[in-house]
Amino acid sequence: MTGGTGDMSLMSEPGPDGRFGEFGGRFVPESLMPACLELEQAFKAAWADPEFRRELDDLLRHYGGRPTPVTECVRLSEKLGVRVLLKREDLTHTGSHKLNNVIGQALLTRRMGKSRMIAETGAGQHGVASATAAALFGLECTVFMGEVDTKRQELNVFRMELLGAEVRTVTSGSRTLKDAVNEAMREWVATVDTTHYCLGSVMGPHPFPYMVRQLQRVVGEEAREQCRQILDGADPDVVVACIGGGSNAAGTFAGFVDTTARLVGVEAAGGAAIANGIPGVLHGMHSRLLQDEAGQIEEAQSISAGLDYPGLGPEHAHLAAIGRAEYSTANDDEVLESFRVLSHTEGIIPALESAHAVAWVARVAGTDALPSGSTVLITLSGRGDKDVAQVREIFGRGEHA
Ligand SMILES: *Cc1c(COP(=O)(O)O)cnc(C)c1O
Repeated sequence: MTGGTGDMSLMSEPGPDGRFGEFGGRFVPESLMPACLELEQAFKAAWADPEFRRELDDLLRHYGGRPTPVTECVRLSEKLGVRVLLKREDLTHTGSHKLNNVIGQALLTRRMGKSRMIAETGAGQHGVASATAAALFGLECTVFMGEVDTKRQELNVFRMELLGAEVRTVTSGSRTLKDAVNEAMREWVATVDTTHYCLGSVMGPHPFPYMVRQLQRVVGEEAREQCRQILDGADPDVVVACIGGGSNAAGTFAGFVDTTARLVGVEAAGGAAIANGIPGVLHGMHSRLLQDEAGQIEEAQSISAGLDYPGLGPEHAHLAAIGRAEYSTANDDEVLESFRVLSHTEGIIPALESAHAVAWVARVAGTDALPSGSTVLITLSGRGDKDVAQVREIFGRGEHA
């Protein structure tokens, strides 16, 4: 097994120690190693167990609202000159793809005989999803959130508390997402007998990038079948998803990596870990990270709080290195324009994160990067209700009237 550098199917099993080519791995202090190994064993056994898979499918269907539809965008297609299909993760319970991951990890927590889940959150979306899954399973839940983010996202703090979770404010470092991950890892080591760490994206030490991608691959697998129905057996020419840590993109790409479809990940221009990142180690993984010349991690900047992670999952760094996926960026202005355009033309208000993927399509449609007449599938990772107040402020200031 080579981690997908040649003979084996891409996006199946990673190589030894969770390697994707030169990226990935498990760079953790010795104290964290037993927890990672226990989790790897537990997930592998669960994933191979038809009963676990059946229960997961059942929950995603009857609680989560799966399968989500693929919607043909007639008016947007006309406007852009390319055929646009949307995979509608905005229609899952809690409004984004994040539920797919947390339901799987909550089920795994119970299977490991643990009674408590902890999670990190930046914008609050993964914290809310984790608190939701914990409530469903009757698990105790603690969410670590940087002090800066608790102030920016007061409503999500209240949501988590409403769902029965405890929100623990992190005051170390820059008091944002990066520090919340560090605190959660520390808490995991200290309480591993009773506690599972429910990480929110395809990042961190092995097995998290692999496990979260497997839990999200339902997005891509459903979409491939749905596209074949719509396109008379064909696959889209291009498949596009936005990238924060990279989980909705990884789940989407996993469904299409064995087809001829081009795969495109779109990062925030101010958080472009593929374009501007340097290989390095953070949060237990070797990946591409935004760093200054001294190797200090830099803060990502984006209009959408869900995309401001200063790195991305190691499998994306690998897919970029071998050229199987392409990575681009969208800036805040393009994103706001796409937020408005999708709302206007299709009656779908996208999450600002998802609007990055739409923005890339709008920018390149009709150019060599996406010739007229192409068919493009965009994963709409979430709905925009959470962003409406923020966008109104910006439009209201006349910057985008
Ligand atoms: C959290 C979030 C993202 C970014 O996370 P990924 O792991 O990159 O998918 C994207 N879209 C929405 C709606 C989110 O909530």
